Amino acid sequence: MRRNAGAAAIPGPVARSLANAAPRVYWLDQPDAPEPLPALTGNVTADLAIVGGGFTGLWTALLATERDPSLDVVLLEARTAGWAASGRNGGFCSASLTHGLGNGLVRFPAEMPLLERLGAENLREIGQTVTCRGIDCGFSPTGELFVATAPWQLAGLAEAADAARALGHDAEVLDAAAMRRELDSPLFVGGLRYTGGNAMVEPGRLAWGLRRACLEAGVRIYENTPARALADAGRGLSLTTPYGGVRAGRVVLGTGAFRPLLRRIANFVVPVYDYALVTEPLSGAQLASLGWKDRRGASDLGNQFHYFRLTRDNRILWGGYDAVYYNGGRIHDEQASRPETFARLAAHFFATFPQLEGVSFTHAWGGIIDTCTRFCAFFGTAYRGRLAYAAGYTGLGVGATRFAAQVMLDMLEKSDTERRRLTLVRSKPVPFPPEPLRSAVIQLTRSSLARADRRDGRRDPWLRLLDRLGMGYDS
Ligand SMILES: Cc1cc2nc3c(=O)[nH]c(=O)nc-3n(C[C@H](O)[C@H](O)[C@H](O)COP(=O)(O)OP(=O)(O)OC[C@H]3O[C@@H](n4cnc5c(N)ncnc54)[C@H](O)[C@@H]3O)c2cc1C
Repeated sequence: MRRNAGAAAIPGPVARSLANAAPRVYWLDQPDAPEPLPALTGNVTADLAIVGGGFTGLWTALLATERDPSLDVVLLEARTAGWAASGRNGGFCSASLTHGLGNGLVRFPAEMPLLERLGAENLREIGQTVTCRGIDCGFSPTGELFVATAPWQLAGLAEAADAARALGHDAEVLDAAAMRRELDSPLFVGGLRYTGGNAMVEPGRLAWGLRRACLEAGVRIYENTPARALADAGRGLSLTTPYGGVRAGRVVLGTGAFRPLLRRIANFVVPVYDYALVTEPLSGAQLASLGWKDRRGASDLGNQFHYFRLTRDNRILWGGYDAVYYNGGRIHDEQASRPETFARLAAHFFATFPQLEGVSFTHAWGGIIDTCTRFCAFFGTAYRGRLAYAAGYTGLGVGATRFAAQVMLDMLEKSDTERRRLTLVRSKPVPFPPEPLRSAVIQLTRSSLARADRRDGRRDPWLRLLDRLGMGYDS
């Protein structure tokens, strides 16, 4: 059903809607953004050094101090806390630890009841931390809508709802009319409604709030401080930074999709760019024309899917669809802006909500997703258990990063917890092949997924092979 809005043929209204879109992240483009903290100069010691100030690093630092308030914790962040994926995502804070129920049921069928319970606890505890620490990040447990925009997407909905209900979720299949009563678009032909399992958050404010909570708990955070090298330093590990270094008994790596300090992580993670737009605030009449019930976050059900939500001041964030891998795994600031993707997203937005004709976008940006072949986080240790890492959340890490932080702390403490015994935690994804085969395989998969969407979901031989190898993607 999706329409190709190639850069060569951007319709006038679509181009005009983007004319004033700033290449900035809406969530971080706020007047009360915190000032950067000073970089590390000189050499310091710590019990625990954390590399990366996204949600993974921030949760690890905060939870470490909650477990042991006397622990001396240092966090090194290459830029400013929350500038990367953690501050520029859709803000869907899901209970799922497995990138959704479908992916979890395929990969960890026996473990799913336990994973779902642990995920629900994790989400509840995120809510509690937000409340107790006074983090004003719009945390709102709205549940979620999954919207079918083509008849082929309706096929699996009843089965998905049954599986979800068997795992304790409140899931309801909606026909076209019921779906349009939730949120009105002429393209919506049905869907699924979950009333739990997901909270909407303002991710930038969550990152800033966690950063403040860490500072209040005594964590020393150094911003604009990239860790350049990691080495064994006898009883501890050492991290080298541009103007100094840290020697620490334990180290956690929460560096997401960026070039890891531990080479083995690079076998499992590729950086995939995802893009989003935010509109100007809608008027009362525009908002009413959508009939958006309960401000539930929503996504559609193609392989290439959009996610969309309201902000506190009634803008719409509209993102997803194009997931772009730059050959060789290139990461560059310039790639966070991609006009052809912005135009495609805007065209899809107005096709979905024609009643919003004339609305402008104020922000347009991209961010990097740490993608792995099983689409949910993996974990590991190195240096005889003195270093722990987690990565690979693949687009659903807002909630799962906190769980990952608990896993890494369990690993460093060598405590025998339910979490550590999970297959999810003990197993690794299938590694990506080395370049240049890696780029070829990823680009082939992307084009096959797009073709499947155009062919009523029919998967070609390549996707069927990946499915058989347990590497297939199906939202
Ligand atoms: C556009 C977009 C939309 C998304 N939407 C959602 C969503 O709605 N829901 C959801 O659950 N997930 C979503 N995600 C995914 C989610 O944002 C991530 O899974 C999550 O934020 C990962 O957090 P992280 O801390 O592991 O990584 P990041 O936030 O990427 O943080 C890693 C940090 O490490 C730092 N770093 C790297 N190397 C070094 C070094 N050597 N020294 C010091 N610092 C270093 C980086 O500067 C960075 O700040 C989205 C992602 C994107 C990009």
